[in-house]
Amino acid sequence: MTIELSDRVQAVPPSGIRRFFEIAEERDEVISLGVGEPDFSTPWAARDAAIASLERGKTSYTANRGKRELREAIAGYVADRFDFDYDPDEEIIVTAGASEAVDLAFRALVDPGDTVAIAQPAYISYEPGVIFAGGEVLSVPTNERDEFRLTVEALEDAGAENADLLVLCYPNNPTGAIMRESDLEPIAEFAREHDVTVLSDEIYAELTYDGEHASIATLPGMRERTIVFNGFSKAHAMTGLRLGYALGPADVVGAMNRIHQYTMLSAPTTAQYAALEALESCENDVREMIDQYDRRRRFVLSRFREIGMDVFEAKGAFYCFPEVPESFTSEEFAEAVLREQGVAVVPGDVFGEGGEGHLRVSYATGLEELREALVRIEAFVDEHT
Ligand code: PMP
Repeated sequence: MTIELSDRVQAVPPSGIRRFFEIAEERDEVISLGVGEPDFSTPWAARDAAIASLERGKTSYTANRGKRELREAIAGYVADRFDFDYDPDEEIIVTAGASEAVDLAFRALVDPGDTVAIAQPAYISYEPGVIFAGGEVLSVPTNERDEFRLTVEALEDAGAENADLLVLCYPNNPTGAIMRESDLEPIAEFAREHDVTVLSDEIYAELTYDGEHASIATLPGMRERTIVFNGFSKAHAMTGLRLGYALGPADVVGAMNRIHQYTMLSAPTTAQYAALEALESCENDVREMIDQYDRRRRFVLSRFREIGMDVFEAKGAFYCFPEVPESFTSEEFAEAVLREQGVAVVPGDVFGEGGEGHLRVSYATGLEELREALVRIEAFVDEHT
């Protein structure tokens, strides 16, 4: 007997990134520049706070929306860093990673047949999330000529005027692109004019290397039509603790909480203690990690250029997005460089339209390993071009 799977699950293929990790994990000598995960450990103070909470037996559920103290700390942090003003009782929900927050937003806002425009290349979870929620995906490709920033022209070319939602992710995974306030203004105008709700994944907001992060939610008329996602996985190196949050209008956050209270109850309690401490005392740790990422970013960009691979000047997150030589597709290059040189990178096509012809290279890896990986990539390129 076979149990019949739902159409929605069958419509979504397994992750294109995982396949590369699985090959990489089988071989000891492989250097992986494939993962989107900091190589740093969680700052000690945050780990200590988690340990102390366990020692005190703080292992119960919290309020559905997360510990109030943590929501207050998040409200204070986002006000300070990004000029946001969100009410901890009504407009903030703490979730099991930003991933849960994104999923809740899709489920709270998408009806069967609704269209969700996604600026691509983009993080691989949005498209499945839309399909699981019963929506239709509209790809809006960005390109290197525009430094992978979304433009109104791209939205119009894709026919996004009729979209119900628009998903943005800046600083971007996988390209490392950022959007400045002046780039976001026309997008905000488009959203207001066509009554589009914006889902803005800002999980890399701390990781910018050329000026401060700008959020579309702070532009006129946008706060009421934007849901912002952030979390502790990236800047605070807390991926496995699974803690994120969403900020948005009270009715939307309330609807997200209605799903969350049945499906998750509350985000991991130990992680909430760690996150509170991370916001209270780990600012310097975050700064130090950002400095290291920036050093690596500059090294990796300059090495790709030396090797003769064109690479767009990534200014955020911890990825760069070089072009593969013309004789290869992204997938061919990624497979061959893994097989022949033991370097794992992710082919750009898995991130949707606009990604083909590129590789996602993560520099959330120590400089020594990056150095060796680039020696190997250079040997590969010299041999094949
Ligand atoms: N959004 C983006 C753009 C990401 O790159 C990631 C992690 N790779 C996530 C969300 C998920 O983060 P979390 O660990 O908080 O679920």
